[in-house]
Amino acid sequence: MSTVPIPPLFLERMRVWLGEEFPAFLSALNQPPQSGLRVNTLKISITDFLEKSRFDLHPIPWCPEGFFVSGEGRPGKHPYHAAGLYYLQEPSAMAVVELLDPQPGENVLDLAAAPGGKATHIAARLQEQGLLVANDLHSQRAWDLVKNLERWGAKNVIVTNETPYRLAEQWGAFFDRVLLDAPCSGEGMFRRSLEARLDWSPEIVRACALRQSGLLPQAARLVRPGGRLVYSTCTFAPEENEAVVSRFLQEHREFELVELKTRLPFEPAHPEWLAIESDLSDWHGMVRLFPHRGHPEGHFIAVMRRRSGGEWRDVRPFQIRSLSPAQRREVHGWLASLCTAEIDPLRLTLIGSRLYFIPPAAIDLGRLRTILPGWFLGEFKKGRIEPSHAFLLALKGEQLPLKLNLTAEHPALPAYLRGDLLHQGLFSESEAAIFAHKGWLAICVDGYPLGWGRIVEKTIKNHFPKAHRLL
Ligand code: SAM
Repeated sequence: MSTVPIPPLFLERMRVWLGEEFPAFLSALNQPPQSGLRVNTLKISITDFLEKSRFDLHPIPWCPEGFFVSGEGRPGKHPYHAAGLYYLQEPSAMAVVELLDPQPGENVLDLAAAPGGKATHIAARLQEQGLLVANDLHSQRAWDLVKNLERWGAKNVIVTNETPYRLAEQWGAFFDRVLLDAPCSGEGMFRRSLEARLDWSPEIVRACALRQSGLLPQAARLVRPGGRLVYSTCTFAPEENEAVVSRFLQEHREFELVELKTRLPFEPAHPEWLAIESDLSDWHGMVRLFPHRGHPEGHFIAVMRRRSGGEWRDVRPFQIRSLSPAQRREVHGWLASLCTAEIDPLRLTLIGSRLYFIPPAAIDLGRLRTILPGWFLGEFKKGRIEPSHAFLLALKGEQLPLKLNLTAEHPALPAYLRGDLLHQGLFSESEAAIFAHKGWLAICVDGYPLGWGRIVEKTIKNHFPKAHRLL
């Protein structure tokens, strides 16, 4: 990392703004990055996770599900990661959803969601009640988002690949909470990201500020009266932070900053850095996170509320095209053969060959580019239905009658996570009793579903998806 210097022009700007704090800031930027993980409370309680995991964990003060990870544990390679028991996330980034504060039952929109750090956090806070729409403009990134949400096991999520303008045209002021985690110049990531250092320039800062000023009013159109709008970046540049938000608030009197009553350990905003002219009486509702102030990386978060107004749209529920009676019978038999979960047959729909469960709070998607309309259960292929990874990862171990439950240290697990065929010889005598069965079985780690396998002639064919494999 030291071979790519931090851009001198950036340092010069920060030296002027931070004054006597600058040496501490610079020294913090040159420290090794700090890793974090956030426990998936949809699948496991924090107490159980701490009991089961062997990582060296220390609580993150601003996020109850978040932990600093130190030591040699390699949490990205652990089967618990593949089972979606946690998300690896930079600790400062966990502050954003803490301040968005989504509540079970709400409709929440994450406008720039890929790869899913904040979206998985929101999904866990919703606790399966309400709806999360996670959007990203870039289609490849939107697919990475789907992959991470799949592993997370949330059933009430829709993923779109759209411009914020088209979403606002479709839904208007509908959502209880909207997050715009904006694309930015990434100065806050200089501690760990070589690309961020290489890509930075004053022109990039200006271009990002311009783009953010275009995106924020579109995000705002989607917030219902009384609803919350959170704008965040991972950069220090005030042009992309205080300046974007104060300009937005001057032009949108129907929004105000929310007074943050929380005693979370964040720093105040810095409007004086740019001598921003504004009639804001105070800047509460905007916070900063700094690496020399106990937050591993730099972040800016503004929390706003729509006082009034908003464009009304007739947002109808998702119109489900029901299965035919014959399809329903087939699907019912298939579901019963795999799991004991109760899945409302009236909420099932086929889109092409793919079978989905549409969450009760789902809304009409019109002609929006949609990647995921709900919980993807499986696909009709060659006269049979193949269960999906997303289906399994949203189930509990106890809902699966036919499973092979292995400990995290079991020698077959690395082979399974690589995508290998599993032979009987890898298992103990009692485990090998499973080979008396035929067909689909769930591979679990310490009781948590990890992926599908299919028993064929004394071997287990591997259905752990290629995109998730550890090679
Ligand atoms: N929220 C994400 C997370 O926590 O994992 C990180 C988001 S990243 C800072 C910004 C995202 O904005 C990128 O994934 C990028 O593809 C997306 N993006 C860029 N321009 C956009 C636009 N006009 N509309 C929506 N998303 C956009």
